Amino acid sequence: MKTIQHWIAGARTEGSTTDTAPVFNPATGHEQARVALATPADVDAAVQAAARAFETWSESSLAQRTQVMFAFRQLLIEHEEELARIISAEHGKTVDDARGEIVRGREVVEYACGLGDVLKGNFSDQVSRGVDVHDFRQPLGVVAGITPFNFPAMVPLWMHPIAIATGNTFILKPSERDPSAADFVADLYRRAGLPDGVFNVVHGGKDAVDALLDHPGVEAVSFVGSTPIARYVHERATSAGKRVQALGGAKNHAVVLPDADLESAAGHLTAGAYGSAGERCMAVSVAVAVGAAGDELVAALERKAREVKVGPGDAPGTDMGPLITEASVERVENAVTDAAQQGATVVVDGRGLKVDGHENGFFTGPTLLDRVTTAMDAYRTELFGPVLAVVRVDTLDEAIALINANPYGNGTALFTDSGAAARHFQRKIRVGMIGVNVPVPVPMSYYSFGGWKDSLIGDSPVHGPEGVRFYTRPKVVTTRWPRAAQQVTAGFTFPTSS
Ligand code: NAD
Repeated sequence: MKTIQHWIAGARTEGSTTDTAPVFNPATGHEQARVALATPADVDAAVQAAARAFETWSESSLAQRTQVMFAFRQLLIEHEEELARIISAEHGKTVDDARGEIVRGREVVEYACGLGDVLKGNFSDQVSRGVDVHDFRQPLGVVAGITPFNFPAMVPLWMHPIAIATGNTFILKPSERDPSAADFVADLYRRAGLPDGVFNVVHGGKDAVDALLDHPGVEAVSFVGSTPIARYVHERATSAGKRVQALGGAKNHAVVLPDADLESAAGHLTAGAYGSAGERCMAVSVAVAVGAAGDELVAALERKAREVKVGPGDAPGTDMGPLITEASVERVENAVTDAAQQGATVVVDGRGLKVDGHENGFFTGPTLLDRVTTAMDAYRTELFGPVLAVVRVDTLDEAIALINANPYGNGTALFTDSGAAARHFQRKIRVGMIGVNVPVPVPMSYYSFGGWKDSLIGDSPVHGPEGVRFYTRPKVVTTRWPRAAQQVTAGFTFPTSS
């Protein structure tokens, strides 16, 4: 059976042990490969390679870095189908959905192609007689990215193009559940002309992560995953003196007002809830139906949930693929059973779904729960599966209070025809990314992506201007050229403007 290996210093690299973990095809339930598990020695080898590469890469011109990014972008376009199929085979999402994540990730490469503009510093002329001040930003050194299974291409792409284009060298520790996309991207970078050691991949689980968090040669850590691990990564890496950005889990609410186009809102909510089998950090998992919207909305959601075509991700016409593991199916289905026992109405029941010819696949069907309350476990926990919970409230302010009381604050949406309601909502809601009649409001790459509250530990969102700030630190230079300007006698008092 094939073993997926690390990528260190520009080449596939076997680790120091033969320890591996299984990689499944979620649509069939079969183990299709093994992935190497990095030891601290393997992580150290990657850090050493990245540190050596940093010496020259950090001295490369902006023009050279930009050219590599343009070439890399072109290769991502040419190999989109191949990469999408690799993702689909290990994650389970449809090939079209995988293409979508590649396109959204590629947008960050496009932003990185224009970093020359973003990296311009400030210049203040004549702050004192004959004295000017300017600032500029420099890369940190070796930086690491630790990423989740649900976007094996896009989430790492939120990080490495910005880190590399700003002159850092990068070590990616992708999810061990769908590791192949990382190695494929590493080879695209090689073909784009990126020098060896600038982009490295180490595979593995907790041991590999801990080795990165503790390694003195790693300057910064970008993490995306569940909230408990985000918190852990943040604590451990900051106490090791590193800069950390750590994005966590989510429970995204979409509020539907009675004045909204309910048929259209239901369509968007269905796609937002069941797309990628609900395994998106921006998935719509709670529909908050306000006042009279409730009955009509639930009827439309029921109709649309029953139309979702579930099947293997590479079969034409599939809307929704399997979950990532058998354990995920069990967790999601148990949560639905618990919700029913706690008083929710199971309007559409996806439990126990079998897909013809794929009886051992990790499938569960779209599930719609109505009359869910905030006390129920299905509301309180991130299910990360194809379950849409409808909560009914009487007013928009009640909806806002409900969302603000939720510990997560990643994304939210409001469906309405009222500009005044939308303005009130976006100003009062304690959530980082907001959609107005847009169900999954993932910001464009030239803005930054990040939630509030338990959806982001620390204070740095990813990509866009915040990403550039994260991967660089500023220097401020105060300059005087005494021969060219008025001579000033050296003094022992603290320099002040004159
Ligand atoms: P996860 O937290 O289990 O794993 C994320 C990464 O951490 C993986 O690389 C994994 O190997 C590593 N890891 C897991 N357990 C660890 C441990 N005990 N110690 C050290 N490292 C560990 O997350 P997942 O299941 O891969 O992904 C789903 C989660 O990610 C969901 O909670 C989802 O909301 C979240 N997510 C958030 C965003 C966002 O932008 N906020 C985006 C995508 C996914």
